Amino acid sequence: MADSYDLVVIGGGPGGYTAAIRAAQLGLKVACVEKRPNKALGGVCLNVGCIPSKALLDSSEMYEVTTHKLARHGIKVGSVALDLDTMLKRKDKVVSELTGGVGFLFKKYGVTPVFGSAKLLTGKQVEVTAADGAKGVLEAKNVLLATGSESTELPFMKFDGKYIVSSTEALNFNPVPKHLIVVGGGYIGLELSSVWKRLGAKVTVIEFLPRILAISDGEVANEVHKLLVKQGFEFHLDTKVTGATVKGDSVTVTAQTKDGKELSIQGDRVLVAVGRRPYTAGLGLDNVGVKYDPKSGRVEVDGHFQTSVPGIFAIGDLITGPMLAHKASEEGVVFAETLAGMKPHVNYDAIPSVIYIWPEVASVGLTEEQVKEKGIEYRTGKFKFSATGRAKAMDEQDGFVKVLADAKTDRVLGVHILGPRASDLIAECVTIMEYKGSAEDIARCTHAHPTLSEAVGEAARMAWAGKPLNS
Ligand SMILES: Cc1cc2nc3c(=O)[nH]c(=O)nc-3n(C[C@H](O)[C@H](O)[C@H](O)COP(=O)(O)OP(=O)(O)OC[C@H]3O[C@@H](n4cnc5c(N)ncnc54)[C@H](O)[C@@H]3O)c2cc1C
Repeated sequence: MADSYDLVVIGGGPGGYTAAIRAAQLGLKVACVEKRPNKALGGVCLNVGCIPSKALLDSSEMYEVTTHKLARHGIKVGSVALDLDTMLKRKDKVVSELTGGVGFLFKKYGVTPVFGSAKLLTGKQVEVTAADGAKGVLEAKNVLLATGSESTELPFMKFDGKYIVSSTEALNFNPVPKHLIVVGGGYIGLELSSVWKRLGAKVTVIEFLPRILAISDGEVANEVHKLLVKQGFEFHLDTKVTGATVKGDSVTVTAQTKDGKELSIQGDRVLVAVGRRPYTAGLGLDNVGVKYDPKSGRVEVDGHFQTSVPGIFAIGDLITGPMLAHKASEEGVVFAETLAGMKPHVNYDAIPSVIYIWPEVASVGLTEEQVKEKGIEYRTGKFKFSATGRAKAMDEQDGFVKVLADAKTDRVLGVHILGPRASDLIAECVTIMEYKGSAEDIARCTHAHPTLSEAVGEAARMAWAGKPLNS
């Protein structure tokens, strides 16, 4: 007889594993099926996404600091050499410790891991095919689909795993590319090209749209553009890539500008980072009638993550909303708690997003463009990091904090931070937005001195009272 569970989760990424753990904590009998090789849990995020990219971003930033920034602090170093093998091994170690940690948590809370590829059968049965071809069936009262997403491929320049690659292979270039051509000026393209730029590559970014970071606040994106150009990035905006040819150890990318000019750019590696698409291959959605949008691939769900088939749910990159790990895991928690009879919800208006280039970019809530589009009367408070003592002391003075507040109620509508450690600074703004707080609420919180958080307080003060204190 097939093993039976209250909940079978398909996909062991941040959405799936978090849902599995929370459901088990609440007393449900849970199995989580994962098909990655080597029985690795943690999904894209831990294996080939957030974690390895951040490990390399941190290592490469240290290299950048040592080679270019220490001298300004009066620290002289002898010759600095890059040991890329060690850097890549450290990244792999960080990944394996964290993926192993998920297995440990499964054991601790009693989630049964099942390794193999899952397919939906009718009657809420899940067939699992193991790596050796052996098949088994799990009986489920409820099934959660959390199969995530995959890199989008351009039909006229398919991934070849070496010269024309997705983000996965771009985590393992060795040696450092001489000239990395990046197709797509979104966050994944900019983060990974920052790694290789800092380690010595020339970087050229080709973007179809007239600006990089299309969904970020426009003022922030423009400033990021300027700062990256200062760092040596080359950009071709409003430019459509038309093809790529590999010859020997080099790749030539052809492109066309908006005004019809043909470009031919030669490099040695091409990273295609034009977005991600929900991953449902082999899942058998059609077998059971789970509806999805054929264009975007996103599985359709209601407000409780229920698909068109009762008892089958979906979360994370597979459904609508930002493709971010913390959005997936938040949905996992809320799904599990709802299944166990609680009444939580995800506040989609207060999901932060971070771009880990340097300086970092972090935001929550509406962009200025969105506020205008909605016709909301608003006030803006902007404060530059260069006016804070801590940023001066750190010698990291680029960027600013921008707070958007409702002109009538002062409620915070959005916060956009470009600057050092923006990834940590945004947490205060998320909390304020979660509690529907005002710019005055942020301004009246005491911000320790001297810290970068004073820039957040000052920008909020400006949005609320019209003037900051220190500028
Ligand atoms: C380079 C890169 C950097 C990123 N950086 C960040 C970041 O800094 N911060 C952030 O928030 N987000 C980041 N992301 C996005 C983040 O990784 C995703 O949003 C997140 O992993 C989505 O989680 P998920 O649980 O929905 O799916 P996934 O993490 O994609 O996990 C889905 C899992 O399901 C498994 N699976 C699929 N089909 C089956 C099947 N039929 N049977 C069994 N198992 C199956 C897959 O093997 C996979 O392990 C990054 C992504 C990339 C590519």
